[in-house]
Amino acid sequence: MNKQFNELVEIIKAYNPNSNIELITEAYLFAKQAHEGQMRASKEPFISHPVNVAKILATLELNSKTIAAGILHDVIEDTDATYEQVKEKFGSEIVTMVDGVSKLSMINLDTKKEQQVENIRKMLLAMTKDIRVIIIKLSDRLHNMRTLEFVTREKQIFKATETLEVYAPIAHRLGMSAFKWELEDLSFRYLHTDEYYNLVKIISSKRKARESYIDSIKKTISKNLEERNISATVEGRVKHLFSIYNKMKKQEKSIDQIYDLFALRIIVDNVNDCYAVLGFIHDMYKPMPGRFKDYISMPKNNRYQSLHTTVIGSKGQPFEVQIRSKEMHQIAELGIAAHWRYKQGVKEQENMESKLAWLRQLVEWQSDTSDADEFYDTLKVDLFTDEVFVFTPTGDVKNLPAGSTSIDFAYYIHSAVGNKMIGAKINNKMEPLSTILENGDIVEIITSASSKGPSRDWLKVVASSSAKSKIRQFFKKENRGENIEKGKEMVERELKRQKLVFSEIFNPKYYDATIKKYNFKTLDDAFCAIGYAGITANKIISRLKEEYRKDHQVEIPIEELVVPKKDNVPSGNEQGIIVKEITNCLVKISQCCTPVPGDDIVGYITRGRGVTIHRKDCINIINDKGFEERQIEVLWAKNTDSNYNAEITIKAYDRNNLLSEITNLINDMKIAMRKVEANATDDGIAIIKVMVEIAGKEELSKIIKKVKRLSGVFEITRKNKRK
Ligand code: MN
Repeated sequence: MNKQFNELVEIIKAYNPNSNIELITEAYLFAKQAHEGQMRASKEPFISHPVNVAKILATLELNSKTIAAGILHDVIEDTDATYEQVKEKFGSEIVTMVDGVSKLSMINLDTKKEQQVENIRKMLLAMTKDIRVIIIKLSDRLHNMRTLEFVTREKQIFKATETLEVYAPIAHRLGMSAFKWELEDLSFRYLHTDEYYNLVKIISSKRKARESYIDSIKKTISKNLEERNISATVEGRVKHLFSIYNKMKKQEKSIDQIYDLFALRIIVDNVNDCYAVLGFIHDMYKPMPGRFKDYISMPKNNRYQSLHTTVIGSKGQPFEVQIRSKEMHQIAELGIAAHWRYKQGVKEQENMESKLAWLRQLVEWQSDTSDADEFYDTLKVDLFTDEVFVFTPTGDVKNLPAGSTSIDFAYYIHSAVGNKMIGAKINNKMEPLSTILENGDIVEIITSASSKGPSRDWLKVVASSSAKSKIRQFFKKENRGENIEKGKEMVERELKRQKLVFSEIFNPKYYDATIKKYNFKTLDDAFCAIGYAGITANKIISRLKEEYRKDHQVEIPIEELVVPKKDNVPSGNEQGIIVKEITNCLVKISQCCTPVPGDDIVGYITRGRGVTIHRKDCINIINDKGFEERQIEVLWAKNTDSNYNAEITIKAYDRNNLLSEITNLINDMKIAMRKVEANATDDGIAIIKVMVEIAGKEELSKIIKKVKRLSGVFEITRKNKRK
């Protein structure tokens, strides 16, 4: 057995006495055989590379299957070994990881365009069904960077650029700082060789003097903490080179002006100790104003937690101190990989919660994803399931919402392309326009100058709101008369479906208020908007129905509210709610949490008032101890015509025009507001409550997303009030 492999086994045994060494050895023998005869640029046999990658994975203390996948990571791509062979010998979990790594390697990263880089990073993550694939890929890259000296200068520059632009930022997103730092410093060394060695020289010349200074501070602090009975590890640390270089460049500072060139890190047992230590440090040394950062109460996006402060030492020299718990330290160094560590006696499943929390964070990092809660519910370990990344024929990456078709793609390129499109080639093959695009597809749009424009049916197919609005724009520009006619037709069809009579419902008494609510001047304007699909016929009709009902204050018997069953689909009642096991019952939507379709809901049987519907996270439901006996399962009906009131509370730093910007924004979305209430606190925080009338959660998420972008807005919450 090879020496490097024996070292690997030793590392694994040290942290995982139950490791499956047999499996790892099998993987090694298989890979060795497959790579037989291949050499690295360093003139070593190729097998040394995968073994070293596995060693890096072992420093992350990953389990045996992941290590085996690391050893096998290049066999499908670079040798005669096939997917099937690997699957047969090592099982589906391992082959899926190996295959995932191979797929990532096949993506062409040879792009020089700035704006493409972020998309490529996302694309890599999007293609990763299992985050371990990315961890293996990063380990692979780390080993390649460590051995970059052996390749040509041209290849060095290419790999180092790619590492700096794509892989180091991914490591950063995943919180894997140790990886990020090393990848950056290695890239720095090959991209700016002179500066790199210059900095190494300066730092080592200063190291001696600084070290003795830091050492004396270290001793003072250690002694002090000991006296106060706080167990802590105090370490001096040199900041990594690339970040010093960046700081000097960005802030135009000389090396003497970089405070955290050397710094102290204090690692304690728990959060309380972190703050206690901070207090002592600030007692012992004068803190520098404006340099304290509490990343414990406000963690960074990648879940980094620590307290940072800069204090002034005995010789008047400032130095940075970082204070964190052991757990925070592990997350700070290993990031997401910390959650995949092998832990004795802990089942994989139990680790799931923390992994999911991570993925959720990743999603939040990406501000333009729709609803983090929804994402959290549906995904297991898929990343970015709400986006798809595809190529143009010239190799540009475009990202579109998941479910997008070639029509979305065409409109994404330009509305002129969409309006003139007659067909699409996906991966060089003609495909129907409604084909849903997949990650990595190459899409080519076929246009014709004689095309008369989009079809209204496209509105049902497209997934992106931008394509939708561009198609609507097209129809809007069409003849107004035609749109009005079309809109009327659509209204009539819908009324017929709902068995309603036009002349009864479309009475000025009812529609005057309705069209005003949606900002139309005349009824024709409303029909016109329906015609170009600016608003649905349903929305107007259900509003009219409400007005109509107000006018006809007869209690409608519950039986009549139950829509007859169709094709075995359970029917919804008036509010679009299906109460399981009970066909006819009074249903009321609770006002304390204002649930809307898409929310997880639960029914609560009340005495004499039927069933009230609450969100599962309603504060009243969570706090009601007697609830279990009185709950009943309820569902949203699939298709309802109803609108729902939902209330949100917006907190923002108060400023001029804030309220009107919020209301304009909602108005522009053609969403009716039922109530707007604005207050400001003494310390300049505006609290704005808005009740909107919407069809479901998706619409609400859109509103929240848009309002969040307004300057000054820092928090938006759904209504969830104690009764
Ligand atoms: Mn490799």
